[in-house]
Amino acid sequence: MRLAVRGAVQGVGFRPFIFRLASELELKGWVINSPQGVFCEVEGGRRQLDIFLLRMQTEKPPRASIHSLEHSFLDPAGYKDFEIRKSSGSGAKTAFIMPDIATCGDCLREIFDASNRRYRYPFTNCTNCGPRFSIIEALPYDRQNTTMKGFEMCGQCREEYENPLDRRFHAQPNACPKCGPRLELWSGSGKIRSEGDDALRQAAAAVREGKVLALKGIGGFHLIADARSEDAVARLRARKRREQKPFALMFPSLEAAAEHCHISALEERLLLSPESPIVLLKRRKESGGIAGAVAPGNPCFGAMLPYSPLHHLLMAELGFPVVATSGNISGETICTDEREALKRLGSIADLFLVHNRPIARHVDDSLVRMMAGRCLVLRRARGYAPLPITLKREMPAMLAVGAHLKNTIAVSAGSYAFISQHIGDLENEQAFCAFKKAQDDFRRLYAIQPSSIACDLHPDYLPTQFAEKSQLGITKVQHHFAHVVSCMAENELDGQVLGVSWDGTGLGPDRSIWGGEFLLATASSFQRIGHLRTFALPGGEKAVMEPRRSAIGLLHGIFGERLFENGSLAPVRSFTAAECRILKAMLGKRINSPLTSSAGRLFDAVSSITGMRQQAAFEGQAAMELEFALDGIETDAHYAFAIKQKSNGGSQSALLVDWEPMVRQIISEAAHGAPVGDISAKFHNTLAEAIVEIARQAAEEKVVLSGGCFQNKYLTERTIKLLAENGFRPYWHQRVPPNDGGIALGQLVAASHMADG
Ligand code: ZN
Ligand code: ZN
Ligand code: FE
Repeated sequence: MRLAVRGAVQGVGFRPFIFRLASELELKGWVINSPQGVFCEVEGGRRQLDIFLLRMQTEKPPRASIHSLEHSFLDPAGYKDFEIRKSSGSGAKTAFIMPDIATCGDCLREIFDASNRRYRYPFTNCTNCGPRFSIIEALPYDRQNTTMKGFEMCGQCREEYENPLDRRFHAQPNACPKCGPRLELWSGSGKIRSEGDDALRQAAAAVREGKVLALKGIGGFHLIADARSEDAVARLRARKRREQKPFALMFPSLEAAAEHCHISALEERLLLSPESPIVLLKRRKESGGIAGAVAPGNPCFGAMLPYSPLHHLLMAELGFPVVATSGNISGETICTDEREALKRLGSIADLFLVHNRPIARHVDDSLVRMMAGRCLVLRRARGYAPLPITLKREMPAMLAVGAHLKNTIAVSAGSYAFISQHIGDLENEQAFCAFKKAQDDFRRLYAIQPSSIACDLHPDYLPTQFAEKSQLGITKVQHHFAHVVSCMAENELDGQVLGVSWDGTGLGPDRSIWGGEFLLATASSFQRIGHLRTFALPGGEKAVMEPRRSAIGLLHGIFGERLFENGSLAPVRSFTAAECRILKAMLGKRINSPLTSSAGRLFDAVSSITGMRQQAAFEGQAAMELEFALDGIETDAHYAFAIKQKSNGGSQSALLVDWEPMVRQIISEAAHGAPVGDISAKFHNTLAEAIVEIARQAAEEKVVLSGGCFQNKYLTERTIKLLAENGFRPYWHQRVPPNDGGIALGQLVAASHMADG
């Protein structure tokens, strides 16, 4: 396990502490001080590693304060002992921008201490906590370069700021009720209702009454509603035009969260960490009291704890869980400015709890979950961005612009890749503006003049079009290859791997829609050695929101036109006779029915065939529900499948995973009323078996799992288990998302290697 610990960890006995802890747990490895923080690698039993991680936080030296702790698991290095390595004074103090840090224990005590001058002050912070990335306008990081520049420190704050012995020595956002930002409560029309603590109390009262509150937080607005109230949550859903996607919850305390969710020691650490992300937790079946509309049909809750003084004060006032979802209309980026919020969120929120500390850039809440015993970041933003991924080699200054959905961008500087915070789906002008702003922002902050730019192959992706207009040398990186290289980069893999790259959609070099790919890859090139059998998508893009279209295309691949005569098939039944005639003609003549090898669409098709879902409210919903359905089912059973050799006539040949035997079995089981959960479990197991079979035929030991499908916990864990049992070495994502949020990193690394030929 490698750890990067940033914060007040130097000159406070941190390295000896690590040494003692590692020795006690009989871990091997090393620890080193560098200008960027304390780094260490420890090697040993899995349980010892977990204990090491947990005790790092709970037993650290009294004067040490951890502002960020990132860790990941790498291949064993075979250390013989544990050593304190000589500090590397070398290397310039790279301009690292710290992420926003959750409120520390000291500040928390102050805001709840009636005798403290910061009692109930919602902008309390110190050198160990508070906003960073969200307030920095330029480097170096000092007050003049933050959005706090407009606030003149009062005498007392100034004294703290200038006293090397004070906890607020050079705390750039330092503030107090006398001189710092202030709260205001606004009506929907922007009229000031109240100020300061009254504003907070009235806002809390409104939430208690079932109102929707827009709250200006750290990196943008939250929309807040009483999570216990079906009415309040339903209202929020209707107004936000977000019908079914699960909402995140904020609990007043760890104990309150534990009443509703199962929380392991590692998950508890995440909830209480300086990063303070939303953690996907298994909900307790027996627990009631949270409105069903929060996360319909979902066996998990996305849960977080208060991470800013404002959230702490509000949650203490409320004492019950609230929905805390990004302040935006579906499809747009999170809102950061109060004037803009009135316009954009005016139709959603009843009241606005705002303040006058400007937000320099939007930073959403991060989302993580435990996967195969490790933390997996699904959305990398607050608390993590913009900390870099360390690369195995120096790279020229480059910019990678990412994909169309879940966009992030990345820049390289030396041996670091700086990945931006989650930007979002670039499906409208507002989001595309946010994208352009983010890439300007990154170039400026890191003073990088990129010599080249990396993008996706897809000509319709806005970032690709942006790259083409940029006048820079441009390298196009195939989408699924970028997924694989992204996962290789964070696992520090060299040489060749088998990349299993499964997602919804990506353009292949052959101009067809890929998504169920097996790529024999290095960081500079790949060969598509296999893929899922293709099927037609009648209506093309429309299929994303209509799983039944994927099903019709899949079934057409098996039965041809006869498919439409079988009225017992759920997808056929879901269309009218007239629609079926059109579909038949489309598929027969191959009109607007592109072929795809997409694994995501295969999930959709199976969901439709089992009768679970014909139409979706958001991409991936059908696949998510299929995963939910197998909750609690334990079986090793799987369906039949076939691996076929496909030849293109030329020298290129590829393996095909043929799902036909599986689909035939599913149809028959569904017809006999088999529970969807059982079908789903066997379907997932079949996919994992197929991956192992391809790995066997490819005879490649290292197998890299990437793409949006590997957000699916069951599929990922099952595949990892089977691969390991069969002598392969599986790798998956940890710090970078497996979804398209990881594409920019993959583009960056692949493009630089491709340039070397
Ligand atoms: Zn603090
Ligand atoms: Zn002050
Ligand atoms: Fe993708």
